[in-house]
Amino acid sequence: MVKLEDAEREKLRSTNHYLASYEELNHLTLRAREHTAALSTELREDIEREFSERRLNLLSCTTTMEMGVDLGDLEAVVNLNVPPGIANYQQRTGRAGRRAQAAPFCVTVARNTSYDQAVFRTLKDYLMSTPTTPFINLQNAELFIRHQISVVLSHFFKSVIVDQNINAPSLKHLFGEVLTQESKGAFFDRLYAWTESEKGILAFAEAERLAETLPAELRTVVATSGPALKNAIVGRFREFAEDVCERCSAYVARTKESAEASDYGKAKFWQAQREQYMEQFLVTELSRRGLIPTYSFPVHSLTLEVQDGNSFGKYQKQADVALSRDASSGISEYAPGAEVVANGRIWESSGLAKYPKAFMPERWYAACQECFHVDVGDTPQDVPSACSNCGTDTGRRKRKYVEPKGFVTSAANKKGRDPGSSRRRVRPADEARLIAAPRAEEFLETELPYLQTALLPARGAEGSELRGSLFVANRGTFGEGYYRCHKCNFCEAFKKPTSKSPSKGKAAVTTKKWLHQDPATGLKCPEDTYPKMGLDFAHMFNTDVRLLRFLAPLPEPQDDVNDVRRYQERVARTVAEAFRLAASDMLHLHPGELRCTYRLYCTAGSTVEVVLYDGIPGGAGYCARLGQPQFSFPELLQLARNRLECPAGCDSACRSCLCDYGNQRHWDNFLRKDSSEWLSSLVSGKAIRTGPGKYVPWPKPSLAGLADRFGGYPSVSVIASSLSSPTDFSETDLNQVLTWLQENKLVKLYVANQLERQPKEYALLMLYRHLYPWMAAGKLKVFQLDGLTGKAASEVPRLFSSLENGALLVRQVFPVQAVFQGLVNAPAELGAVDDEVRAQVTELLSDATEYPADLFAEGSNMDMWELESGDKRDLQDIFKAIAGQHVKKLVIKDPYCGASNNRHRLQEYAKFLVKHVQVVDAVQIYCSETRDRNDVVEHRYDVARKLEVMLEAEGVGRVEAHVKEIGRSRSTHDREIAIETADSTGCDFVHRYFLSGGLDYLLDSRSATKVFHLRVAK
Ligand SMILES: [Zn+2]
Ligand SMILES: [Zn+2]
Ligand SMILES: [Zn+2]
Repeated sequence: MVKLEDAEREKLRSTNHYLASYEELNHLTLRAREHTAALSTELREDIEREFSERRLNLLSCTTTMEMGVDLGDLEAVVNLNVPPGIANYQQRTGRAGRRAQAAPFCVTVARNTSYDQAVFRTLKDYLMSTPTTPFINLQNAELFIRHQISVVLSHFFKSVIVDQNINAPSLKHLFGEVLTQESKGAFFDRLYAWTESEKGILAFAEAERLAETLPAELRTVVATSGPALKNAIVGRFREFAEDVCERCSAYVARTKESAEASDYGKAKFWQAQREQYMEQFLVTELSRRGLIPTYSFPVHSLTLEVQDGNSFGKYQKQADVALSRDASSGISEYAPGAEVVANGRIWESSGLAKYPKAFMPERWYAACQECFHVDVGDTPQDVPSACSNCGTDTGRRKRKYVEPKGFVTSAANKKGRDPGSSRRRVRPADEARLIAAPRAEEFLETELPYLQTALLPARGAEGSELRGSLFVANRGTFGEGYYRCHKCNFCEAFKKPTSKSPSKGKAAVTTKKWLHQDPATGLKCPEDTYPKMGLDFAHMFNTDVRLLRFLAPLPEPQDDVNDVRRYQERVARTVAEAFRLAASDMLHLHPGELRCTYRLYCTAGSTVEVVLYDGIPGGAGYCARLGQPQFSFPELLQLARNRLECPAGCDSACRSCLCDYGNQRHWDNFLRKDSSEWLSSLVSGKAIRTGPGKYVPWPKPSLAGLADRFGGYPSVSVIASSLSSPTDFSETDLNQVLTWLQENKLVKLYVANQLERQPKEYALLMLYRHLYPWMAAGKLKVFQLDGLTGKAASEVPRLFSSLENGALLVRQVFPVQAVFQGLVNAPAELGAVDDEVRAQVTELLSDATEYPADLFAEGSNMDMWELESGDKRDLQDIFKAIAGQHVKKLVIKDPYCGASNNRHRLQEYAKFLVKHVQVVDAVQIYCSETRDRNDVVEHRYDVARKLEVMLEAEGVGRVEAHVKEIGRSRSTHDREIAIETADSTGCDFVHRYFLSGGLDYLLDSRSATKVFHLRVAK
């Protein structure tokens, strides 16, 4: 320590900033708060008031605060990153300096990200750019129906909420203090009675009249009316009420449990939870579920429920933090382990929010490594073992997933954590992938010979399964999904057990106990065994999707050092982005309103399909407009090519050509020049016809035309990626091949995929059943083909008669279809064998290995009944294999078996079975909602309950019915009865009965149908 001289002290006093400000009389403390959509309305209003009273002087805001909220006088705005577009920039910075006397002050921080830095380098261009004009898309039916719902609900609430003085009613004002399974019936009765009352009829009429506000040409397209409107509104509102009931009942049950265990503290806690839950504002809950219009986009959102313990003991208050966001990002950003900052605290997600099983079943999916297509199913068997889009089976892995409805923090961390300098970031979810796999004939020709297109609307046309469905998955921090506790729903990232002692020949077993806390209580969960496999979180949504299928193969890298696959992925990504930007320009959209991805068909031809889709779930009608006269494909292609002609002449991509805010994660992958060259080569017409042989176009290929042309030849050979797509199997193709065999032709099938000896799928089993005898007789030969990769696949013939000069050749331009997925698909070409083609095909086939004649033997284990219309149904015979047995489980999958006019068939079948077998322990029914003649859709909860009551009355044990929402089931051959039996020796078997028609066809002797039976050891 040194003593300061007075003079020195005086000098310091005048120059030291901290000392000077300490001694200044007018102290200004900086008080900062968050102001985001994550805060409750109440808390936000408090903050706004404090801010306007100048008791707070810094607000940290999210983008949601760009518009709408009046924050009063701002002196300065600091952007902590570069806003995505100039419109956002203007919205944010324009808030400062509205008062005449304040000098506006705006600072933008360009972070070290590619986008921010790129804008920083060309800041002038950014500032000079003009914002696009905002507009509303009137074609969004989803937006419109929300307005209709709000009209009807407002009338309904007026008649059921007695106290009209309540300003903002909460759930309890509508449903009462408690809504349980017992009391909900009365509530629904009130709802139904109201819909039929004079007031109700008037309310629905008013909602219908809203359509008059739409332009005439849109009325019938966008607006719903009549019974369909009533169904939609009552159905959606009912789902909401069911959810509330479920939650409320759970709280009531827990209160009761705790009280019975004399744990009154806990009982009080659960009671307070329930009261708090029922205190939530009705309007918030309705908008969160997308029942009424909101200021945000109509997205499916996910919540992270913060259990902040505020309600404990006290009379309730809404939780201060209400976290909710678009489900596509919510599945990873709110996933267990993720940390979220809100209200100055860090909240860690700890588990899945609890909803009854029916809402959140664990299902299965497989994402194709080649084309990125996703197949989904209720069980692993439902997911085909080869991709239903491209037929590839390499590297395929079936994974389990749920679609979460929300996540929760743990009650053990009621107060959250102090924010430090960092928080855990999560691995982002995978890119959205397409679930739909349209058949070849669903693609339409465009004006461009090398481009085909298909539109998959968000809401498929009635009776059509062609819908734009996308799938987003979060595969967890380590790519293995999450451990989920089935008792308490706690979750954490799954780590593959490390096999530490493989030398001793022991399998790695996790013997460690799984210690975790129940998120609801914060107490140790009694379940302590690690789950065996991980669970992914997924989100599915429908939107308008436009597929652009390029028939010409992608280019190959100039130098052969490059990984071909990687190179083609980069070109595909570049082309896809160029088309997305071109389409946005053409339709005058904001960036982000169109999104894109792509699919590659590599094994069989290096071809690409660009997948464009509307960014707004539910579809905004943008993709649907592409291809209309004023938005033609040639023009779109021209714009895409322009996009790839960079004004700055960059190497791979830059802000002047391809890079924008939305595609930052791909900037390093773009290959502008190569992609531009490729598109140009298409226009010049060179690229599409490659490979040896002289082919001429076959304008309208058909199966009949094919049969006719091959008529005179003694043999037919087919080259294909696989035998059959499990979901898209064409019986007419099978019949054609059988006809050729019966005509004594030798048929040879060359397929790239490894064929399974014991397939699980109906389509393959049926094929095996039909083809086995011919193979055993040597009339049919099947070969495994290894060389069918890359460009080669699009250059070889699809079918040929022989390799003699002049023999018939048929080539199809898009090569990946399986044999029985259209023997020939448009566009196709005809040719004749010459020396070049012979050399090409001979070389390809030289690697082929013939499968043994018993390849299809599994088919011979199948029993088959071909029942004609009028044939008596002998159920005793068809089900003789299970006569007198102990049935442990009976699973019926038939989308239409729950329809009101088919239900009696289920009952009839149950009656038969109860007499035919010893005992049935349990039954599961999988079906779908259906529309009856009056256009009425019976709600799935009602269908399920009716089926359960009806079947249990027949004495078939416990019945569980799973009824899917209308339009959500996929068109697989999923009509199956699976019967699990235990025989006297203790062996378990599954008897699988595949039905070509539904259960009603099987039982109704007026219909023709086929039944296949296969017994598999379990
Ligand atoms: Zn695939
Ligand atoms: Zn647990
Ligand atoms: Zn550029």
